[in-house]
Amino acid sequence: MPDDCIFCKIVNGDIPAERVYEDEETLAFRDINPAAPVHVLVIPKRHIATAVDAGGPDAPLLGKLVLAANAVARQEGIAGEGARYVFNVNRGAGQEVFHIHLHVLGGRPFSWPPG
Ligand code: AMP
Repeated sequence: MPDDCIFCKIVNGDIPAERVYEDEETLAFRDINPAAPVHVLVIPKRHIATAVDAGGPDAPLLGKLVLAANAVARQEGIAGEGARYVFNVNRGAGQEVFHIHLHVLGGRPFSWPPG
C-alpha cells in the first residue's frame, strides 16, 4: 500500500469517512463531494491503483465490488429506480484517486452518453 493513498487511509481508519457497507474485502463510504443524492464509493480494502491494473487473480475481488455495490444500491433504495455504477480509469477519464473505486450513484435521472 502506498503511504499517500487516501483510500487506504480510510480503510485503516486514519481518515474518517461515512461508512455505509463493509465486509471482509470491501468497504463503501459516502463521496465527500456528491454528484447525486446518493453517491457512494465502493473500494477493495487491498490497494489496486486502477481498474485497468486488475488482472485475472483479481477477478473474484472485482465481482465482490459489484456485489457490494448491489448491497449499497438496495440499502440506499436506488436499486429499482435506477443506479449508475462507474469506474473512472486513469486521468483522461477523470480518475483522481488512484485506488480502485466503483462510484454508485442514484436518486436523480442520468443522461447518456456521460460527460
Ligand atoms: P475519481 O475522480 O473517479 O478518482 O473519484 C474520486 C472521488 O473520491 C471523488 O468523487 C471525490 O469527491 C472522492 N473523494 C476524495 N477524497 C475523499 C474522501 N476523503 N472521502 C470521501 N470521498 C472522497
